[in-house]
Formats: sequence, C-alpha cells, structure tokens
Amino acid sequence: MSNNVTTNATTSVTTPTNIATIAIHGGAGTILRSAMNTAQEKAYHDALNEILSAGQKILADGGSALDAVACAVSMLEDCPLFNAGKGAVYTHAGTHELDAAIMDGATLDAGAIANVEHVRNPILAARAVMEHSEHILLVGAGAEAFVAQHGVQMVEPDYFHTEARHAQWLRARDQEGMLLLDHDAASQAASEAASELEIDIAPIDPDNKFGTVGAVAVDMHGNLAAATSTGGITNKRVGRVGDSPLIGAGCYANNRTAAISATGTGEAFMRTVAAYDISARMEYAGQSLQDAAQQVVMDLLPRYKGRGGLIAIDAHGNVTLPFNTEGMYRGFAKVGEAPVTAIYK
Ligand code: ASP
Repeated sequence: MSNNVTTNATTSVTTPTNIATIAIHGGAGTILRSAMNTAQEKAYHDALNEILSAGQKILADGGSALDAVACAVSMLEDCPLFNAGKGAVYTHAGTHELDAAIMDGATLDAGAIANVEHVRNPILAARAVMEHSEHILLVGAGAEAFVAQHGVQMVEPDYFHTEARHAQWLRARDQEGMLLLDHDAASQAASEAASELEIDIAPIDPDNKFGTVGAVAVDMHGNLAAATSTGGITNKRVGRVGDSPLIGAGCYANNRTAAISATGTGEAFMRTVAAYDISARMEYAGQSLQDAAQQVVMDLLPRYKGRGGLIAIDAHGNVTLPFNTEGMYRGFAKVGEAPVTAIYK
C-alpha cells in the first residue's frame, strides 16, 4: 500500500503504518508571490504549523479524525489571518454571515450551519447540529438558538471585526455591483488599512481571490472526517450561501473514498458538486485520490469558471492538495513526522 502526498510540487512516500494524517487549508487564490514579504509569509507558515501540530497531537493520542478536524478548523477560525470566524469578511450590509459544515466519514453523519452572525466558532455549531439534532443544515436565528442551547459560545457581531476586512468591504462596496472574494479585497485594503492584526493581511493577486478554511483527517483506525468554515465573499448579498456548508459541494467525507474540504468560487463548486464528485470518481470509476482530485480541480471546475482548490485525504493516509490558483495556504502533518506547510506552487 502506498502512502503518497501530492502538494502540486512534491510527492513523498512514507511507511503504511503512519496513516494518521491531517491536512488543512486557509484559502486558495491569494497572494502574488512578489507582494508577500518575509514577515507575512512567516506568520502564515507559523499559524499553519501550530494548527497542524494541534491536530497531529490529537491523532497521535489516538483521537478521532472528527476531533482533529474540529480542533483544527476552530483554531483557523480564531486566527484573524483567515476568512472564517474572527477575521471573516463583510456582507454588502456591513455584517458578517458565517457558514460551516462537518462530516464523519465512518457514519456519513453530517452537520452544517449557514448565515449565523453570533457564533464564535461556526464549526463547533455545525458539529452540534450533527450530534444533537435530527437535521443536517440549520440556518440563521434558528441555528443560533439551537446551538446556544447546546453550549456553543455566542459573541456580539463586533467580535468578527478587523480593520483590514472592514477596509476591504468599504472598497468593494464602492465598486459598483462587484463581489470580491476574500483575498482579492485584501490586496486592495492592504496598503491603506491600519490593520489591528499583528501583520497586514497579505496583498493578493487581484485575479486570484479566495478564502475559507478547512481540514481533513484520517485517524489511526482509518476513519475519515472533513470540516469547512467560511465568511464567504466580501460584499456578498445578505442571505447568500456558498458551497462551504453544503455537504457534497465544499465538504464531504466517506471512509470508502475520501475526505475533502474545498475553497474557491463557491457557485462553481456547487454546480459541480465538487467534493462529492471526487468521491464518486473514486467509488464508481476506480480513480485514485490524486487523479480524481486533479481532474476536478484542473479540468471540471475551470469549465464553469471555478477557481480555487481543495484538500483531500483517503483511508490509507494519501493526501493531495491541488489548486488552480496562484497559491493556497495549506499543509499536512503525519503522526510522527514534522508538519509540512506551503503557500505557492
Ligand atoms: N467557497 C467560499 C464561498 O463561496 C469562498 C472561498 O472559499 O473563498 O463562500
């Protein structure tokens, strides 16, 4: 049994005993390499490393893939560098509407929330929906009331505010009719926003502009899980929901095939049911994880103007992290090995 990792740049082979693995992303698109300074780049790598290490520890201690992805995504949500939770983008109305989904590949249990405005960690709300309701997807005020009853922390909307995101939104709003995906707006704001972050959000290639966070994992029992969380698109219409909280579009896990978390132009991922398409290619056409993910990201999505990427893992610990953009904040960690992080191709 091979145990491969493809990051679009490298392939490594490790021993089959090390199947317990976690991979994370902090959004695709990004960042002209030329515009990224050393301090910014280090901050992203440090954040990715810290989060991978936390997920890796859960897996090393015998914890479940589900616990590992929930932990990793909640940490990504707490980090203002990424468009989810604290640091989420603004809607057209100057508010925040957050979406998230989580799925257990062993049981196909899933939970998701959309359009919540007061939930500190949307991924924990999605998990509460999965574990405590008979439903899969709850939205808005009903979702908030339900998850609050189950101990999920609520915050005032200004918790999500960052100066940099606010400046992005003002710029986007002033550009008529224009929706800006996360990092696109960041580039516009970076030069003028007095960021409350320790570093400015990195300037981005204006043609490549996405955000969202996610994690996929396989635990030492061979169980898979996936989690995805987002603030969506800067200046999005109030009530707009993208692919991230939709099972099969931006998030999917099935022990028979793979766990997948996506980032990019949500509407294209919805039209192609992108995450599930990878699973279906593996299950029905016998494709490998790498081939299925590569074809969805490089062939299928571009036919529908789909820009972005995804992270995917299978029950053998194979990992692939393809994207069709300039870069994608990403990394993976196998139990017993140092985490690997990357931004560009
Ligand atoms: N896919 C997300 C959405 O459409 C945005 C992103 O990943 O940049 O909401």
